[in-house]
Amino acid sequence: MIIENGFVFDGTGAPWTKTDVAVKGDRIKAIGNLKDMSAERRIDATGLYVSPGFIDPHTHAGDGLVKAELGGAEPLLAQGLTTVVVNPDGGGGSAGTDTVNIADQRQKLLSHGVGVNVAQLVPHGMVRRLVMGDVDEHASEEQLDKMRELVRKGMQDGAFGLSSGLFYVPGSFADISEIVELGKVVGEFGGLYTSHIRDESDYSIGLIPSVDEVIKVAREAKIPGVVTHVKALGPRVWGFSEAVTQRIEQARADGVEMWADQYPYEASKTGLSSALIPRWAMAGGTSKMLENLKDTAALDKMRPEIETNLERRGGAERIQLANFSPDTSLEGKLLSEISESRGKSPVDTTIELLIEAKGQIGIVSFNMLTSDVVSFMNKPWRMTSSDGDLVPMGEGVPHPRVYGTFPRMIAKYSRDDNLVPLATAIHSMTGLPATVHRMKDRGFLMTNMYADITIFDLKEVKDMATFTEPHQLAKGMKYVFVNGKLAVDEANYKDIRKGRVLNRNGEDFVRE
Ligand SMILES: [Zn+2]
Repeated sequence: MIIENGFVFDGTGAPWTKTDVAVKGDRIKAIGNLKDMSAERRIDATGLYVSPGFIDPHTHAGDGLVKAELGGAEPLLAQGLTTVVVNPDGGGGSAGTDTVNIADQRQKLLSHGVGVNVAQLVPHGMVRRLVMGDVDEHASEEQLDKMRELVRKGMQDGAFGLSSGLFYVPGSFADISEIVELGKVVGEFGGLYTSHIRDESDYSIGLIPSVDEVIKVAREAKIPGVVTHVKALGPRVWGFSEAVTQRIEQARADGVEMWADQYPYEASKTGLSSALIPRWAMAGGTSKMLENLKDTAALDKMRPEIETNLERRGGAERIQLANFSPDTSLEGKLLSEISESRGKSPVDTTIELLIEAKGQIGIVSFNMLTSDVVSFMNKPWRMTSSDGDLVPMGEGVPHPRVYGTFPRMIAKYSRDDNLVPLATAIHSMTGLPATVHRMKDRGFLMTNMYADITIFDLKEVKDMATFTEPHQLAKGMKYVFVNGKLAVDEANYKDIRKGRVLNRNGEDFVRE
């Protein structure tokens, strides 16, 4: 196939060139004036932009992709994605431990086929849970050895690095020396470390010391470090983007390889319990937390802490329920609205809702300042990520980033608001994440690279998903090639599942 006459980005951050691209098999065969080359099909890309396929360095889509009915990944392909990195946040927020087994997850993905390529991370929180449970204790040398073995196994099985979620139980119970030790194992394989930092606000050690923790791991384990979904969460740290930037840039000046990724929204998504319940009340897992929520003495201690945590989030009017299984009519409602209708304080409403939902409530949290979001956005070390999940169309009221992240970065922040040059925005979602993760032959549009290619109409690119009506596919992606095959053709999604599971150590895993 030959893609003719498009504005071609190579993924390096360089501006486009007007040229042709030939695809043969799963690779890019040639770039240049190809009007004399014969082809089975010619795609006229006049007026369209041709880019390396987009790479999402932080997504929770892994939980969806392992299900046969979601494996086709339509909401991801509609955003121009061709590769996703799964198992972020140390497995944060997830109840199980099943993502520890990288080979098993790979088998599940390949058994029914996936629409996009998948790169895996070893999730620290799940590793810790498997070895120690959800206890608030330091790891013994023996427990640390068991964790080392699990991380080593994951890396041998092709993972790209270690993710942690030190904000979440049980990652919150790990001190940083534990992560440094596991980071050294990752370093044996050339992997990276990416962390949902311990504190994006002032919950525990504070935002800046939490960034310093990532730098410490990167420095001492001698591996790349990523501050994932970088942000300054809540009024108490608004304006701190400058200080975070200063830390990352100073580390780089000192020779420590530091990066960040960011989703282009001013709201985050997390669990209601993670956001508001103190960690001591969550030690021992969900059942223990539910016991505490019904215990008068525990509640007396907890109530003022929940109150403070609400303040950290900017108040009940900045928290929106995303998933609430006992009563889906509350999904999309603000905590302040529910509290008002029930005639109870936001704190007591929180306690009541958590008991009703047996602890599992997803929330969208409006907690960022525009100037902080924008200040990170055009940094050369910042990748675009979604932090989204892959859910059945119509289920719950998820964060719109699930459907809109990458088109939004292009349409709003580059084209409309002019904050980031288009070539830089494209680089942040192609060549940069490929470089940071050491992905072989992907992320760039050059001869002999894999033919992961996204072709879009800049005038039409739009994220359709909103905070109240998120279940809407993005627009503007005309063609998406995954390993040389068209998964989106003339803006029509095709369920061809040509994605591979990428292998840090060698040949990628292909569905048989
Ligand atoms: Zn996270």
